[in-house]
Amino acid sequence: VIRLDEVWKTYRVGSEDVHALAGVSIDFLRGSFWAIMGPSGSGKSTLLNLLGCLDRPTQGACYIQEQQTAGVDDDALSEIRLRHLGFIFQSFNLIAQLSVRENIELPLFYLGWEAERSRRRAEELAALVGLEERLEHRPNELSGGQQQRVAIARALANDPQIILADEPTGNLDTATGTQIMEMLKTLNHQGKTVIMVTHEPEIAAYADHRLHIRDGLIDRIESADN
Ligand code: ATP
Ligand code: MG
Repeated sequence: VIRLDEVWKTYRVGSEDVHALAGVSIDFLRGSFWAIMGPSGSGKSTLLNLLGCLDRPTQGACYIQEQQTAGVDDDALSEIRLRHLGFIFQSFNLIAQLSVRENIELPLFYLGWEAERSRRRAEELAALVGLEERLEHRPNELSGGQQQRVAIARALANDPQIILADEPTGNLDTATGTQIMEMLKTLNHQGKTVIMVTHEPEIAAYADHRLHIRDGLIDRIESADN
């Protein structure tokens, strides 16, 4: 479903090149659940951003559902993102001025859905994450866990095959984090590919595969034996 082939990501910092990723090759199979782990600065967010089509490799090939992302233009990259990917961030990244309903509908707006259909989809998703009573509220009227549930609903709006999450429980207390992880696990059991970055072993334990990276390289992969 997702393939990285000798991927490099190099940033120019002053007069030096920083190799955030230095030749990473890996397949993430459809329906798998991954935790990406590693020290600060090891390249985790860089990797997730490439998978999420927020960026392109400097060198090497990245395929999302058979579509190559290296060398395509910004519009083509957005298109892959809108069709195949859902994103969840540590800081929720909801738009403060918009209601819960409008936040969930945002990707559908970009996909050109008509208003009534988006409305119904937002209501269905709000119910899925238990926030149907909160559709007209603003994000600042919700708790952190509720905001992350809105972010999950928004990530699911386009019914993506792949869910990417960067420290999804990083700003939540343990009980709320557990609730969010149970949701991600359920989505994985429904067939979605889930790839998350975390530095917490208890959170990584939800995944079937743990990808450890170090200095922009794959250090090791641990897979649950089931
Ligand atoms: P953390 O756990 O602290 O979030 P990380 O593993 O996510 O770390 P990355 O953000 O992927 O690390 O960064 C990897 C390396 O690339 C670091 O040396 C970082 O400084 C560098 N880097 C990342 N983004 C950029 C950028 N836009 N410009 C320059 N250097 C960058
Ligand atoms: Mg990071």
